[in-house]
Amino acid sequence: MFQRILVANRGEIALRVIRACHDLGIEVVAVFSEADRGAPYLALADEAICIGPPPATDSYLNIPRIISAAEIANVQAIHPGYGFLSENAHFAEICRSCNIEFIGPPQDAMRRLGNKNEARKLAQQAKVPVVPGSEGLIDNEAEAVRLAQAIGYPVLIKAAAGGGGRGMRVARNDISLRTGLQAARQEAEKAFKDGSVYLEKYIEQPRHIEVQILGDRHGNVVHLFERECSLQRRHQKLVEESPAPNLPADVRDAICQAAVRLVKAAGYYNAGTCEFLVDAENRFYFIEVNARIQVEHPVTELVTGIDLVRQQIRIAAGEPLPFSQEQITQRGSAIECRINAEDPAADFRPSPGTVTRWQPPGGPGVRLDTHVVTGYRVPPNYDSLVAKLLVHQPTRPEAIACMRRALSEFIVEGIKTTIPLHREIFKHTAFIEGRVDTTFIERNWPRS
Ligand code: ADP
Repeated sequence: MFQRILVANRGEIALRVIRACHDLGIEVVAVFSEADRGAPYLALADEAICIGPPPATDSYLNIPRIISAAEIANVQAIHPGYGFLSENAHFAEICRSCNIEFIGPPQDAMRRLGNKNEARKLAQQAKVPVVPGSEGLIDNEAEAVRLAQAIGYPVLIKAAAGGGGRGMRVARNDISLRTGLQAARQEAEKAFKDGSVYLEKYIEQPRHIEVQILGDRHGNVVHLFERECSLQRRHQKLVEESPAPNLPADVRDAICQAAVRLVKAAGYYNAGTCEFLVDAENRFYFIEVNARIQVEHPVTELVTGIDLVRQQIRIAAGEPLPFSQEQITQRGSAIECRINAEDPAADFRPSPGTVTRWQPPGGPGVRLDTHVVTGYRVPPNYDSLVAKLLVHQPTRPEAIACMRRALSEFIVEGIKTTIPLHREIFKHTAFIEGRVDTTFIERNWPRS
């Protein structure tokens, strides 16, 4: 096992990794940018090293600086968290070539799955259903129009290198396809330095259901059941839960099996997530693999009782999975609310600044993953996630009641957050009945 690990991330996930390391008796080194200097969570690490100025490209995304910090701190492994360099195969390769283990999948599998179009091909080979779409990348407009007509409108233009809901455009006819194509290309070029796009059938009002996977370096792969992540704004998740409500057991099993098949075909190990869309007839389609730990991983931790971050570290150290598929059970109902420093009443505009009062909820069945305390300053430079509020209860109605109670206890002043919107969601009849899809938020809170 490792004696010392560096966490190449910030905020709540850095703290999550710090805690997992300490639970395992491992020393942990944090890195920080000037924007995060003095943040209270850094004091919980055994050492903290400044890696540069606030812009992520000069700090959390800067490979030479992170590798230098790792060398100076003399660590044996790097945990990348989510976002930043977590899905960068080049970074994984550099870490390993410096004899520092990258706590994540092998770089080859990351490359294969990192490009959505390549992942689609692999899924088809593994007999995993994909959304009907173009066989490869789109070269020109005329070809796109021909293809869109063959697939049937509406279609979704997607960036092969996409992530975070960017580089995606719905087209309902030839005209919007032509304009959308240009816009999606430009957006993808800007965001990912790769403007290649492909087409998929746009599934109307689908559910987003994903499967948590763990694989070790000895060829064992298991799933840890599903998470329902349909509540999204601008294709980004706001509420996640497990089990998915109103999902027939046979469909759930088929999706979980498909995820295991795909991950095995990719030669994958460590933690990962296979994302699927499920249509109104409960047909499911693979959309992408997230080759890292995800924001919503604690939902799965609560229902399975398995600490995913600790498992990631053990797997990276070469240990075999300590359980078989049959030993993993899904117990009770867990729900997560993402608390973002955003104003839901103003189109989710980021709301950085100083938190003048932070009074978190607690009590039975409540888990709060956060790095925030009263007086903390939310920097404007990064993702707006400030906390993940989770509940775990024997049944979904009890989980909803517990979340309502927790949300009512939660007091945050000084910044705007998504808490008021969550309070409304948890009162909404359709949500309570588990009738959700990815358009739920925009249909019910059109001004949000
Ligand atoms: P990203 O990597 O940018 O998060 P994903 O491929 O994971 O993109 O898709 C994010 C969300 O976009 C999905 O959860 C879903 O809401 C929507 N989406 C993606 N593909 C489709 C599709 N073919 N039809 C309808 N909605 C889609």
